[in-house]
Amino acid sequence: MTDFESAARQREPLAKVLGARTAKQLAKLDLVTVEDLLRHYPRRYGDPGQLTDISQLAVGEHVTVMAQVRSATIRTMHSRGGAMLEAIVTDGTHTLQLTFFAKRAGVLRMHEDKLRAGRTGLFTGTVGEYRGRRQLTHPDYLIVGVDAADEDEAVLEASRPIPFYPAAASVPTWRIGRAVRTVLDPLPDDYFDDPVPAHLLARHGHPALIQSLRDVHIPDDQAALKRGRARFVYEEALILQAALARRRAANDSLTSVARPRRSDAMAAAFDARLPFPLTQGQRDVGEQIALDLERDTPMMRLLQGDVGAGKTVVALRAMLQVVDAGGQAALLAPTEVLAAQHLVTLRALMGPLAEAGMLTGTEGATRVTLLTGSQGSKARRAALAEAASGGAGIVVGTHALLNETVQFADLGLVVVDEQHRFGVEQRDELRARGDRPPHTLVMTATPIPRTVAMTVFGDLETSVLAEKPAGRAEIATHVVAADNAAWLNRAWGRIREEVDAGRRAYVVCARIDGDEAAGSDLAGSVLADAAAGESPDSRASDASAQPGKQVKPGPEKAPLASVTDTAAMLGARPELVGIGIGVMHGRLSADAKESAMARFASGETPVLVSTTVIEVGVDVPQATVMVVLDADNFGISQLHQLRGRVGRAGHSSLCLLVSRAGPGTVAHERLEALAATTDGFELAEKDLELRREGDVLGAAQSGGRNSLRLLRVVRDAAIIDQARVDARELVAADPEFVQSPALARAIAQWLEPEREDYLERS
Ligand code: ADP
Ligand code: MG
Repeated sequence: MTDFESAARQREPLAKVLGARTAKQLAKLDLVTVEDLLRHYPRRYGDPGQLTDISQLAVGEHVTVMAQVRSATIRTMHSRGGAMLEAIVTDGTHTLQLTFFAKRAGVLRMHEDKLRAGRTGLFTGTVGEYRGRRQLTHPDYLIVGVDAADEDEAVLEASRPIPFYPAAASVPTWRIGRAVRTVLDPLPDDYFDDPVPAHLLARHGHPALIQSLRDVHIPDDQAALKRGRARFVYEEALILQAALARRRAANDSLTSVARPRRSDAMAAAFDARLPFPLTQGQRDVGEQIALDLERDTPMMRLLQGDVGAGKTVVALRAMLQVVDAGGQAALLAPTEVLAAQHLVTLRALMGPLAEAGMLTGTEGATRVTLLTGSQGSKARRAALAEAASGGAGIVVGTHALLNETVQFADLGLVVVDEQHRFGVEQRDELRARGDRPPHTLVMTATPIPRTVAMTVFGDLETSVLAEKPAGRAEIATHVVAADNAAWLNRAWGRIREEVDAGRRAYVVCARIDGDEAAGSDLAGSVLADAAAGESPDSRASDASAQPGKQVKPGPEKAPLASVTDTAAMLGARPELVGIGIGVMHGRLSADAKESAMARFASGETPVLVSTTVIEVGVDVPQATVMVVLDADNFGISQLHQLRGRVGRAGHSSLCLLVSRAGPGTVAHERLEALAATTDGFELAEKDLELRREGDVLGAAQSGGRNSLRLLRVVRDAAIIDQARVDARELVAADPEFVQSPALARAIAQWLEPEREDYLERS
């Protein structure tokens, strides 16, 4: 069979095999081709010995019940005319009545014949009640084993685990199962090419494709369905990892410019003037990066380090190595506020090394330039000129830097800060830049569990900054009930004390204005922030994990606190008399944001009421208090990021999470988890546990047409590991999968545009 034939067989329309009527029903579930149907795996399996507990059925519910027929009798109804079949089915203890009506008794014989006492069946319908007895009227049903050719087969059929498919009210699970059997039963074992190469099946003891399909759809027993599912889990992992391995190989075949270290230039001078010793982690990761930069293969590295781990210094040292070697570096921040802040930070860390052309500048120094969309045209022209001439060794900006036609004299390194959603597409865009793509370093403080990193960033090398610089202060975190006025008063009093001691406080709100429609509040502020150039980053996943459900307050629930209202409220608090209160949110102009940050940093307005725009990267060392209002509306990773804004200069700090979530709710549990630890990785794992996994990887996991169906990134870590090894081996031997056309096809399917989308957003 050619690859083309195999593909055509998979894509064969169900209408051709099953007839138009059944196909039309299945199309309601998005099942259109033979492959769609066969890949529509059962969600769970019923044990044929384990009947449905009939006592649990609620009137009005649409159900599929597995039960045993006890009796079936046809009666003629003298009063109304016509006939009625009454069957009693049982779970062994309770009974349920099935009722069928007809004009004449003869019509009911066909049911009577099937509904023989002792047989087991699946009965689908809406539970009704008649004279105090629960019943199904005209249920759809399937008697297990009734189509069997002989007694032996009937026994086998009756003992199989019963597949339960994701179904719809109009297309019950057993009807899907029947369609699957019609399609699958006659297929010969080699009907499709297997996307998993034979030697890998052999290596892991997995059955081949058709056999595995039989194992999951028509299992003989528990062992068979386990075997089949294991194979498909592996298959999904292999397809993903093969796609990523191929991407990596493609990257490795590109040529970049090697940027060797020099011992007599800025990087060395920088190390010498650092006011603190580098942590061991900073040195180790620095060495990895330095080695990467010295090679002429483009570096593609992900640097994970918790909030405050000191990633900026690591990035700066890498940038200096590149500048020393004659190249330029770009640092991309998710927002303009952060870009502006990075400019200040880098200049401060570099001192005279950033003052080329000035009297104070040291020899061999360079310049650091800010380039953003909202800059005045004069400043922007100057920055563009410095980037193009190479006068600026380091250019700081937002992602717009890459999209626009900004010219660099010799761009050697791109550092992407705080952006774990720097997706495949952007990475490819970078690789496609010029014939000599720059080295790339992606940094994130949002801890990504290893398996997620392997799944989403499998084409990147990963470094982790595990330890934090010494002198980090404790951040005491407490969950405060929103209706606990005494606690809140105490919080404002505490802010006063801290401010009097020269410190700063953040008060974080979920939305900007008091008069926004309640339903759109959080989404509104997120959108506003996004429109103002804010990156979605972790906030987006948090917000999208919760739209409607928790964000939209019920009719009786007070609206979420807004920046405007809260600033006014705090201005009127007796505890805070005479203290300057600033506001900050995504709808402010870039200038207004910058000056709000400056006034906060300088202490002119030592209390800053803000939306989550301060979530990433903002570094005001004197900040020691953070109060998050409506904290139950934020996700764990987002709150962890926010909390990282305090406790940065060795002053012990306080984070208060004000919440309306009652004990026992998931929201409350998340907040308690956060209060219990400041370890970002531990929190990320906890987060995964508490959220549905689909929220972590994006919509693609929740059962779309070409999504991860059985693979679960946390549970299946070991399998993903294995698949990664296998995939790299495959790519090394056969980079374009010429020997494995079915695998190549599966990858192409996986890499549809919508799929790439998923990799980016997750
Ligand atoms: P993040 O990893 O969150 O981006 P930063 O790079 O902003 O962290 O670093 C946080 C703070 O720690 C900064 O003020 C930085 O100057 C300081 N810092 C970085 N490295 C060290 C170190 N080795 N020793 C002490 N302080 C450090
Ligand atoms: Mg940072």
